[in-house]
Amino acid sequence: MLNIGAHLSVSKGLEQAGKDALQIGANTFQIFLRNPRGARAKPADGADTDALRRLTAENGFAPIVVHAPYTMNACSTQDHVRRLAESMIADDLERMEDLPGNYYNFHPGSRMGQEMGACTAMIADMLNRVIAPEQKTIVLLETMSGKGSEIGASFGDLYAIMTQVRQQDKIGICFDLCHLWDGGHDMVKDLDGVLDSFDRTIGLQYLRAVHVNDSLNALGSRKDRHAEIGRGVMGLDAVVRIICHPKLRGLPFILETPTDLNGHAAEIAMLKDAYGKNT
Ligand code: FE
Ligand code: FE
Ligand code: ZN
Repeated sequence: MLNIGAHLSVSKGLEQAGKDALQIGANTFQIFLRNPRGARAKPADGADTDALRRLTAENGFAPIVVHAPYTMNACSTQDHVRRLAESMIADDLERMEDLPGNYYNFHPGSRMGQEMGACTAMIADMLNRVIAPEQKTIVLLETMSGKGSEIGASFGDLYAIMTQVRQQDKIGICFDLCHLWDGGHDMVKDLDGVLDSFDRTIGLQYLRAVHVNDSLNALGSRKDRHAEIGRGVMGLDAVVRIICHPKLRGLPFILETPTDLNGHAAEIAMLKDAYGKNT
């Protein structure tokens, strides 16, 4: 079965995001719990959280993904930015204990001129302070395009962070197809090669979710501009091969394409149809 959904707005609450997911034919989705370009979060609403937990259970949803704010940089050169990152992730993880069994995805960070080794150590140190052994959320590092001084375009950099995390059962990876492509991983011509390289470097058992995006730019461009499925340079066939790949079966596939609910519904219908014909 194809687990598929999209990044959805929570401006009308968590339960409404779950209802929107059902409406577009999804059985998973991704949300922000706070302002993605800032830090502020609305106070937690227990009744709304409970309603979403019931909705996902009753409808047999796959795990959902909470995305950390883009402003988070656990290896910033600035003290207060690092402290803010830690307090945001700690607060988000605490909130997520009321939605047990899901994923928390974050962009590993930006080097800002510092040595890679120092950065991966800072990120892992933060994770070791905020991840509790008994928590019910798995924290995912997202593969990145390498734009600016972004960490996460190479599997080796992600491995360097992961290997320093004590709670190995609470850490994983989220693929982002646009970022992988822009970061130089050719899943169009050599999907098996990319998956083998990931498996050798990190291990496919750590791969927990996939952001399904086409890209507006060329392989290795380090740009990070998402395109709708089939409207970018990777193309529909490549995306279909990915969602149908036996090694990726069962993962939640989340669209982060630049469109609205109707557009996501159409993409989901198209991908479900292709999945049915190819598996
Ligand atoms: Fe992301
Ligand atoms: Fe993404
Ligand atoms: Zn992106």
